[in-house]
Amino acid sequence: MLDSLKKVSVDSNESGGKPDISRERSAALYAKAKTYFPGGVNSPVRAFKSVYGTPLFIEKGDGSQLWDADGNQFIDFCCSWGPLILGHNHPKVREKVISVMQNGMSFGAPTALENELAELILNNNKLIEKLRFVSSGTEAVMSAIRLARGYTKRDKILKFEGCYHGHSDSLLVKAGSGLVTFGETSSAGVPKAFADETIVVALNDRKAIETAFEEFKGQIAAIIIEPIPANNGLLLQEKAYLQFLREISTENGTLLIFDEVISGFRIGFEGAAAYYGIKPDILTYGKIIGGGLPVGAYGASAEIMGHVSPDGGVYQGGTLSGNPVAMAAGIAQLTELLQPGFYSDLDKKTGEFVAAVQSFADARNYKFKVFSIGSIFWFAFTDQEAVRRADEIDASSMELFKKMHRELLNRGIYLGPSGYEVGFISSAHTKTDLENAKRAIFDSLEAVFN
Ligand SMILES: *Cc1c(COP(=O)(O)O)cnc(C)c1O
Repeated sequence: MLDSLKKVSVDSNESGGKPDISRERSAALYAKAKTYFPGGVNSPVRAFKSVYGTPLFIEKGDGSQLWDADGNQFIDFCCSWGPLILGHNHPKVREKVISVMQNGMSFGAPTALENELAELILNNNKLIEKLRFVSSGTEAVMSAIRLARGYTKRDKILKFEGCYHGHSDSLLVKAGSGLVTFGETSSAGVPKAFADETIVVALNDRKAIETAFEEFKGQIAAIIIEPIPANNGLLLQEKAYLQFLREISTENGTLLIFDEVISGFRIGFEGAAAYYGIKPDILTYGKIIGGGLPVGAYGASAEIMGHVSPDGGVYQGGTLSGNPVAMAAGIAQLTELLQPGFYSDLDKKTGEFVAAVQSFADARNYKFKVFSIGSIFWFAFTDQEAVRRADEIDASSMELFKKMHRELLNRGIYLGPSGYEVGFISSAHTKTDLENAKRAIFDSLEAVFN
């Protein structure tokens, strides 16, 4: 069936690489989608604005593989931007979801499934004592910020340039010029008054943090950071720096929020906080926690969580929060993650894969680095040994990524359509997948550099 859809003719790739795969059906769907949705998509990065061609419309995913509307098959390293740590359509997740769905899909009343997912998390996580389920990472972070403000009775928050925390108003703020700046809104429609409450500093800069605490003494409710910043390249921080954030927050009565929407359940079950051995005050989760369905969560000590309504004065609610079908997917997925050896196998597989790609590039003196941690990796066209700040990324290198992305798609490898995005490896990626992927990556690198 799929084979009959495969186009025999292929477009020429005028940049001299492998001929382009057919995107006829995807292009037709995209043309239609553009009449329905702004930019033809329901989330901007999907529009392929920073890479070649129109977005691929996906028809099916299974294990490590994706199929698009034209019948092209790919090894998927986007994994729905992180949630699919078990790969697509994992039988345990699918079956649990189907069985729970037989009993109805939403009640707006508590179910035992919420307790079950909470127990799975809390019994295996020493960082939080209570949590609240929401329906997205954005919601988790937005609620965590409100909780920090309500708890400390302070208004200002401090965030880092190069960290993404979803699309709530307080966080769509970027750095102005200067060491410590009030943010400038990074989206139209965010009132300046919101940006005025958000201080933005560069990552890996202690002086900037110290200056912020001097300038805004007693006013900062929370520092929020992705402990493993993975939304603007992979800007790995040093443990000592994260420890410094922990200490200076405590000294100033400021809460430390780790946004672990990507790193939670990815870098081990307890995420980056346990990996670095640093206990933040509030944690946010998303992506993996929902097994591919929309779930987010924020959690903290029972004392801090006691400030959330209806126990406390910080209001937060949701019609579909704790949705039974979504809880079912989360339960099934997290149960698999708790199997002995799950993370060590995944990390080892990723380590071997990225090391092979790096040696290939090094042997040819390509200006190319693979940064990685756990099962997250980032392809960067740089020769820097470390990239820790957003302004250390050379924007012009994205032209090379664009070329690479096209070559990879033409060889059956699907990466997120932007050089600022990281890739993920799932437990469904087999040795053979990774061997095939390596070969395609080697050929693509040669096409880009020669
Ligand atoms: C993805 C992400 C978010 C936003 O989550 P959504 O589910 O897309 O709203 C927030 N913070 C981090 C660190 C993320 O990676």
